[in-house]
Amino acid sequence: MKKVVKFGGSSLASAEQFKKVGDIIRTDAERRYVIPSAPGKRFADDTKVTDMLYACYHLAEEGKDFRKALAEIAARYQEIIDGLSLSLSLKEEFKVIEKNFKEKAGENYAASRGEYLNGIIMAAYLGYEFIDAAEVIRFKESGDFDADSTNEILKKRLDEIERAVVPGFYGSYEDGRVKTFSRGGSDITGSIVARAVKADVYENWTDVSGFLVADPRIIKNPQGIETITYRELRELSYMGASVLHEDAIFPVRREGIPINIRNTNQPEDEGTWIVESTCQKSKYVITGIAGKRGFCSVNIEKAMMNSEIGFGRKVLQAFEDHGISFEHVPSGIDTMTVFVHQDEFIDKEQKVVSAIHRLADPDSVDIEADLALVAVVGRGMRATRGTAGRIFSALAHANVNVKMIDQGSSELNIIIGVDNNDFETAIKAIYDIFVESQL
Ligand code: ASP
Repeated sequence: MKKVVKFGGSSLASAEQFKKVGDIIRTDAERRYVIPSAPGKRFADDTKVTDMLYACYHLAEEGKDFRKALAEIAARYQEIIDGLSLSLSLKEEFKVIEKNFKEKAGENYAASRGEYLNGIIMAAYLGYEFIDAAEVIRFKESGDFDADSTNEILKKRLDEIERAVVPGFYGSYEDGRVKTFSRGGSDITGSIVARAVKADVYENWTDVSGFLVADPRIIKNPQGIETITYRELRELSYMGASVLHEDAIFPVRREGIPINIRNTNQPEDEGTWIVESTCQKSKYVITGIAGKRGFCSVNIEKAMMNSEIGFGRKVLQAFEDHGISFEHVPSGIDTMTVFVHQDEFIDKEQKVVSAIHRLADPDSVDIEADLALVAVVGRGMRATRGTAGRIFSALAHANVNVKMIDQGSSELNIIIGVDNNDFETAIKAIYDIFVESQL
């Protein structure tokens, strides 16, 4: 068995956290490939090393003195090294970083040093081999991740190595220039490594015991999710559930490798399993609830719209021409509604409205702002009659006016549009009826 283990920033924020991670790795000999993030926050108002690096590099870029800011970063690492009683010194590394900052090596390079240095410490602490991610993770000139060549390079390299540390978050272009993924991207690196070594499982260690049925900022102590499919997760993360980087599922999904989200501070918890498919029923009919505020609906009316072929295309063309992606398009006989993100739409709304008039010649266009979308996701919904009925009667009892309903043909989710002000009430009502009342 081979396990790839990724540890997030809060799991590696201090020497004390490093020790917990060391214990976790040492208790299971199958945990052979380790992906560290940069040190995260040690306490609530602390600053992540990645953010310190961005700020420090901006000083360098503006030609200001950045040595103090860099020394503070060095101190964060030194505290970890001392706390672990390692004889390692990062002095030479920091000299190189200082030189490269002066030469304006770029923001990506700067941010990547957080994982790079933490990887060096982790490798020394565990006695594993260190592999610079710039040597094995490739990006195309377009800036997109190059999955095929990365997989080939990584496979070859890791085939010969029994145990290694590969820092997360970055890689390089073919010419060696460093490039990072978007924030939180160490999750993606872990998934890429798991694919390359054909791991049996990709363990993603963080500071929560997996995914929760609903957002704990809205529901007090929500239940955890034991097993979730990739598809369910995709729906939930798109709608705002954030434990894992959205793009992290793609590499392992190709190989059918399960992801296990675990808690570094409570390693005995089983966490959440993310799998391709399962015959395990979720505890409740629904797997999770997520949602986002800040949508607008654009309602278009035209008499006899139903008999005009191409009307929908013309309307959507108006959005496409202005670079706006749409979320949902429910329609009636003479009406069509397009849901968009309010902050993307607001500056362009009049242009889009006039384009709709020009292209589709409707009778009227009406915009409604400040809407929220709530997604109720669950593979169990397909086999259970009355789920929609229960959702809507719960919402009615809670006095929530439903503005839009969209059920995908997969029957995996039901999306409900409500007023921004009803967002939390709606989530509570749905959680109550499916989870709380079943406990
Ligand atoms: N350290 C990076 C960030 O703060 C990447 C990561 O932690 O995954 O976004």
